[in-house]
Amino acid sequence: MQQGKSSATGVNADALAAVARLRTWLDGARRCLVLTGAGMSAESGIAPFRGGDQALWTRFDPARLATPEAFAADPDLVWAWYLWRMAGVRAATPHAGHRALADLAARQPGLALVTQNVDDLHERAGSTGVVHLHGELFALRCAACAAPAPPPTLPATGVAPALRQPPPRCHRCGGAVRPGVVWFGEALPEAAWQAAESAARACDLALVVGTSGLVHPAAALPAIARRHGARVVEINPAPTALSAQADLCWRATAAQALPLLTGASAELGG
Ligand code: NAD
Ligand code: ZN
Repeated sequence: MQQGKSSATGVNADALAAVARLRTWLDGARRCLVLTGAGMSAESGIAPFRGGDQALWTRFDPARLATPEAFAADPDLVWAWYLWRMAGVRAATPHAGHRALADLAARQPGLALVTQNVDDLHERAGSTGVVHLHGELFALRCAACAAPAPPPTLPATGVAPALRQPPPRCHRCGGAVRPGVVWFGEALPEAAWQAAESAARACDLALVVGTSGLVHPAAALPAIARRHGARVVEINPAPTALSAQADLCWRATAAQALPLLTGASAELGG
């Protein structure tokens, strides 16, 4: 049975009730799916795509930077932008919410952590077996023959992205090396999607953290979970395209909310 919809804001009485309810749901869950998006990394200083004037697609044009056609047309422009993003990720550190998810997985071996993020903050917080639906920034490969390539030399952080920089060349065929991300118009990695979809079908609780729910097919996962009987909980400071499907919307940030769920935050004394 689905519970009535409710929402909670910050750490107030509503939030305490939400935490208590969620902890009960978590304790009772045999299999939990956690789906994270760019908002998960926002408090580590990595800008999301959407929402606010620091968001990447407010400042940059995705059609010129995040499609295979853009890379083919101007590889130096695209590579320079990704080097800048990689440097930002390298300089960032995981926050308490990333660590809380790693703790939760240690307690709940059935937990599947599926992320749309291309950074490695979940892994650096101790999570293993993370499913990366949209690839991984640092998993460089040749754009022509797909041979893996070694990690790049990164520019200093805090500087504006260089306008242009030629990408490294593939050691096997001489083709241009590209970041390991899924660009607009490209298919998701098949194994990652299969793993995510089966986790959504099998879970009894889906925790959706920091995603706008606008990028498909990832945005379909909460609905798949719900159709198969799971409760859906959203943790996001702002309403999203997924809010209407959630049994509980907790209007808090990832670094505020997740440590409260695992009892890692002192605010609940737990
Ligand atoms: P999005 O940028 O579309 O939406 C971000 C969401 O996070 C918004 O709903 C916003 O309200 C919420 N949010 C902002 N701050 C938050 C916080 N502190 N805690 C919780 N939620 C917060 O992100 P998306 O839905 O993941 O979009 C998908 C695409 O963004 C993916 O393709 C992903 O690869 C890409 N992306 C990834 C990174 C990264 O790897 N860190 C960064 C930017 C974009
Ligand atoms: Zn090659």
